[in-house]
Amino acid sequence: MAAGGAVDRNVAASVNAMSAGAHSGIGAGTCESCGAAADDLAEVHRVYVIPAAWDTEEKVEVLEELERWCFPCRSQYPHQPLGG
Ligand SMILES: [Zn+2]
Repeated sequence: MAAGGAVDRNVAASVNAMSAGAHSGIGAGTCESCGAAADDLAEVHRVYVIPAAWDTEEKVEVLEELERWCFPCRSQYPHQPLGG
């Protein structure tokens, strides 16, 4: 009988490739918020949030100017994504 044995190959079936999300990313450059070099910049509108005080209401100001932010800045600071 011919040996049709199982071929022992170690296939890495689920290679976890880096999912470079093409989500409004514009590639590499310098972050305009923190000045760090980044490869995942995205265009955003900076948002200023002025917290409410005893005599004023909270105020949210969205700048019209587009800035290029790195991911850490986008996760830490208030902003509005492009087209948002
Ligand atoms: Zn940054």
